[in-house]
Amino acid sequence: MQRQSSYAKDNGKLYLVPTPIGNLEDITIRAKQILTEADYVAAEDTRTSGILLEKIGVHNRMISFHKYNSKQRAPELIELMKKGATIAEISDAGMPVISDPGYILVQECIKNDIPVVPLPGPSAFATALIASGFDAQPFTYYGFLSRKSSEQKEVFKQMRDFHGTSIFYEAPHRLAKTLKNLASVLPADRQVVAARELTKIHEEFIRGTISEVSTYFAENAPRGEFVILVSPNTDAPKQLGWPELIELVNKNVEDGQSKKDAIKEVAKEHHVSKNELYDTYHQG
Ligand code: SAM
Repeated sequence: MQRQSSYAKDNGKLYLVPTPIGNLEDITIRAKQILTEADYVAAEDTRTSGILLEKIGVHNRMISFHKYNSKQRAPELIELMKKGATIAEISDAGMPVISDPGYILVQECIKNDIPVVPLPGPSAFATALIASGFDAQPFTYYGFLSRKSSEQKEVFKQMRDFHGTSIFYEAPHRLAKTLKNLASVLPADRQVVAARELTKIHEEFIRGTISEVSTYFAENAPRGEFVILVSPNTDAPKQLGWPELIELVNKNVEDGQSKKDAIKEVAKEHHVSKNELYDTYHQG
């Protein structure tokens, strides 16, 4: 077990700092302050971030940290933080770590007992989700999918069956093909939203059935950045939590079943492990 205070004094630490996904005014006051005060800014692309920092009036030392150098760069950053340096990690846009670099560095910090301090802020998937009109609980975020059609189809089957909202990112030049592939797996009337150019001047939501949205993009070449959301499968059985499952076991026992049989039956019907249900039942 490890307990880590984000506000331990005089220690090096890693700040994970979200940056705007389009609208520069979405930088937070705190993000600006941390980017100004950190000893270093580790940036995915120092040129892209240099332009952003210039625009928001932040002048600081930058270190390049991207997916191709992160394995080699992470130990160097760890050494700096061990000596007391604070590092603010940013990606080109949105939250670091979310389909962006940062994960390896966070892992290394945790291993080395260096505090990791996350700042809240913009991320494209959460921004799209809250305006999609689909239930936000539960949701599954997939990031970018495989480019292979067969591998995409496996993921699309999960989306087809999932009783929550599914979200993924796609590049504009691949979108029409990916939606066609999605349409081959989903029922034609399943609702889909394409959230385009979020927070920017051309922000737009294209909502409709998968059949409509797929046809639309086959006829109108997609431009800009996209988040794709697939509505929940409302026919799928809702996954019950442990308290509800235990209630069902108790009900079956009241109706005359043995505890063992009741646990076995409820576990089978609700696709949970019999042993886990047994343990949870007897702990409670
Ligand atoms: N770290 C980012 C985040 O927190 O959302 C994601 C970075 S990922 C490399 C870039 C992808 O995010 C884009 O290809 C697009 O799918 C999505 N994205 C980023 N900005 C967007 C925007 N303004 N509107 C729609 N999608 C966006």
